[in-house]
Amino acid sequence: MPQNHVQALLTSNKLDDRSLLLTLEELHRDLGDPIYPAVFLALYNIELSTATAKHYWQEATRYRHHGDTVHSLRAIIFDYLYTRTNELEDPRIVSAIQLDKLKQCAITDGLTSLYNQSHFKQELEKLIFLYSDRPGAVFSLLLFDLDHFKQFNDRCGHLRGDRVLAEVGEIIQTQVPKDALAARYGGEEFAVILPETGLAQAIILAEKIRAAVERTRFDGEDRLDKGNLTISGGVASFPAAGKTTVSLIAHADSKLYDAKITRNSISPRPSDSRGIIRHAFRSIVEVSKKPSGQICSSLSSDISYTGILLKTPQPSEVGEELELRFPFPFWPDDHATSGQVRHIRNKDARGAYLIGIEFCQPQVDFIEKVLPEEIYHKAGL
Ligand code: GH3
Ligand code: MG
Ligand code: MG
Repeated sequence: MPQNHVQALLTSNKLDDRSLLLTLEELHRDLGDPIYPAVFLALYNIELSTATAKHYWQEATRYRHHGDTVHSLRAIIFDYLYTRTNELEDPRIVSAIQLDKLKQCAITDGLTSLYNQSHFKQELEKLIFLYSDRPGAVFSLLLFDLDHFKQFNDRCGHLRGDRVLAEVGEIIQTQVPKDALAARYGGEEFAVILPETGLAQAIILAEKIRAAVERTRFDGEDRLDKGNLTISGGVASFPAAGKTTVSLIAHADSKLYDAKITRNSISPRPSDSRGIIRHAFRSIVEVSKKPSGQICSSLSSDISYTGILLKTPQPSEVGEELELRFPFPFWPDDHATSGQVRHIRNKDARGAYLIGIEFCQPQVDFIEKVLPEEIYHKAGL
């Protein structure tokens, strides 16, 4: 791409006119006439045909040497374009640094410093175009919406609400990988594009963001009915969920709508996607019945983000909610959560039940600590 070469050359700021001309000559030998339109695009932001650009270049540079004076290359081309062509209308001179700042402002959301919606949509469109030519390639889209945010604004005021939006933007930005694009999609809505990421992995990341927002103590959140500010999210992957910007966003949006039924959740849930793997892990788990029944020591058999299989001497019923504690040093950290009994296998000869429990919320951060890193990565997570 001559544009990239020429752009890099002209923005490096390291070359004087003589060296610049020599380098352009070299580039011309390699890439031919397409370097001419690339120069005009890089310096003056105007698109010209190759023939016109070549003609302008040759005409303008003729005036570089005038008597004893050698005019600056940029100035002479500018003067030529302005006085002898109609290409520049009411031009202004802006330094490259200033121009970059302006360009950055145009694509950034002022409150959160994330990208804005129009840039997000443009990038999504570009990615779809790129990926359409690559059979088997996938990427994913996350859409988030804060829960009961109107209540937060009504009770804490819009200024605090604004601060929350900026903090949530920061949480999202810190959780996503470097090649992801995070944007403020609307008022209290956020969007993330995850290149090279399949559905299972995208759901896990969305879960991490949800859990991080749930964990964060936002100033004023105690005034909410639930006492905790939370977020819900929908996930969609290209190409399975859609092959156009509109269909992909619509799919993620409909998943977000599903997540809003319970709020503080992500849809689809990790258990709905292929790629959730159970890992054999034997260790002690303390189980008690809600609200705070007797503690019964049990033995884990396998574990995943979404649930655990336990051997326990205590009888229970399908649908029953249990408190689970994973004590240190049998587990990497002292950790507690709750889950619902999904299935019970018969008592074995020694009187123990095997019960399958689904966690009330996927335990992404905890499982990352439990599993050795190589297993975690091998599973594509
Ligand atoms: P739900 O859980 O269904 O999403 O409920 P909600 O209250 O979050 O949703 P609703 O669409 O009713 O309200 C969204 C609120 O977000 C309304 C508005 O007060 C708030 N909001 C939108 N943009 C901004 C903003 O820029 N700053 C602040 N402070 N609040 C905003
Ligand atoms: Mg909303
Ligand atoms: Mg909302």
